Amino acid sequence: MSEYKMWIGGKWVEAESGKLYPVFNPTTAAEIAQVPKGDKEDVDKAVTAARAAFPVWSGKSQAERSQTGLKIAAILRDYAKEIAEIDTLEHGTPKNLASRIAGDLPEWFEWNAYNARSLMGNTVPQSPEELIYLQREPVGVVALITPWNLPLLMIIEKLAPALMVGNTCIVKPASINSLTALKLAELLDKLELPPGTVNVITGPGSIVGEALSSHRGVDMVAFTGSSDTGKRIMCLASTTVKRLQLELGGKNPVIVLDDANIGQVAESMVAKQTFNCGQICASPGRYYIHERVYDKFLEKFKTGMEKVVVGDPRDEKTQMGPLVSAEHRDRVDGYIQSAIDEGASVIRRGKKPTTAPLDKGFFMFPTIITNVTQKMKVAREEIFGPVAVIMEKFNSDDEVIKMANDNVYGLAANIWTQSAARGMRFANKIAAGTVTVGRTPGKDQDLPWGGFKESGIGKEHSVYGLLEYTNLKRIQVDLTIKN
Ligand code: NDP
Repeated sequence: MSEYKMWIGGKWVEAESGKLYPVFNPTTAAEIAQVPKGDKEDVDKAVTAARAAFPVWSGKSQAERSQTGLKIAAILRDYAKEIAEIDTLEHGTPKNLASRIAGDLPEWFEWNAYNARSLMGNTVPQSPEELIYLQREPVGVVALITPWNLPLLMIIEKLAPALMVGNTCIVKPASINSLTALKLAELLDKLELPPGTVNVITGPGSIVGEALSSHRGVDMVAFTGSSDTGKRIMCLASTTVKRLQLELGGKNPVIVLDDANIGQVAESMVAKQTFNCGQICASPGRYYIHERVYDKFLEKFKTGMEKVVVGDPRDEKTQMGPLVSAEHRDRVDGYIQSAIDEGASVIRRGKKPTTAPLDKGFFMFPTIITNVTQKMKVAREEIFGPVAVIMEKFNSDDEVIKMANDNVYGLAANIWTQSAARGMRFANKIAAGTVTVGRTPGKDQDLPWGGFKESGIGKEHSVYGLLEYTNLKRIQVDLTIKN
């Protein structure tokens, strides 16, 4: 078993307290590593290091920063296999998926390195005697606080734009699986970045995350995680009025209209519902199926869910590995029980496997709950597991739009119809940051991603995401002044 250190100011350090915490393999429940349990003192050290690095890193030319971004991309590509193996080990990501995710990581740096070079300012035509121009500047020291569900991808999506426009960063990964984050630090350490440009600090969100969110030396918090934690971070960050970028939870409606191609929808939804064991913010949260196609959809969907191969994530054939922890599996199971208690029907209950070799890990087979009403807990809250929530049948477009919008979240929505015009009428009325018609949402570098309502603030990806990490400054010069 390995004992890790954190990376602060370009040095590998233990927590000031000397404390460590364990990391477990969700496939076997075995302890695989000990990681430093950071504290407020460690946060102070990281903030001091990032502040000292800021003038150096932001003072470099954009060309130089972008070249460094391309070097980071290259090293991520060289080590993609190792990163994927750690992802499978600490998160239970099926081998094929882990390789795909690791293989895509370099592109996030490439995209941001190239696009940061083409961010232009504006001049404002007011008077020939005055020059007014708008300048983009880095925000300063950015704390990146990230969740466990796609451990390294969630960091890279924030780190690449933040770094490329000149900010220095403190990465606080999820405690449950911080080993890919520490691997990233090891790779960055090979690249001679100015010390403190990136720091990786491990430790509990309730201590390290809170200290970063309220620290006077941190200018911005970019956070992905649950809405409850996002709200807490907003409160803490308000004491120093920090810039916030929040990617929070979702309870995404999937609306299947009576003219949809049901075979295609069912196949697509099985894949989406079980992707990463359902531990995805964009996962289908509530299915609204038109009464004319309800039975057909359910039959095909159930058949598809039964065929999903649950197993050891190191096996090439595995489609769904374990949930991230025993606690999380109990939480997901608690949601299924709550649905039963509130009167819903469970037509397929995905219990824990009880036989070897899966009995020790945190596995759970896919579940389908039907006859769910708007008020039930499983219709309102994010489950974050392989559990499909099928709402009561609907027969009116207006009624289903109202029901889809009747939720505190507004992350993504998915409309299935064969009529683009009908789909667009829905898209205009649904309150969500991303609405897809006839396809599922992806997360692409070129396209903005981010929720409405309690699903977040601001955007990630695309130029909109890049600009989140900049301040816009107005500069106004009287050209009639002498000398
Ligand atoms: P959490 O909110 O529990 O944790 C996220 C991060 O915040 C972790 O690093 C955690 O540290 C830290 N944290 C916990 N408490 C605090 C605190 N009081 N102050 C500051 N930081 C804190 O989320 P999960 O890790 O459980 O991730 C799942 C959630 O993430 C889901 O709700 C999901 O929808 C959302 N998500 C949203 C995405 C989007 O694009 N909108 C994408 C992916 C996930 P520690 O691990 O030490 O507790």
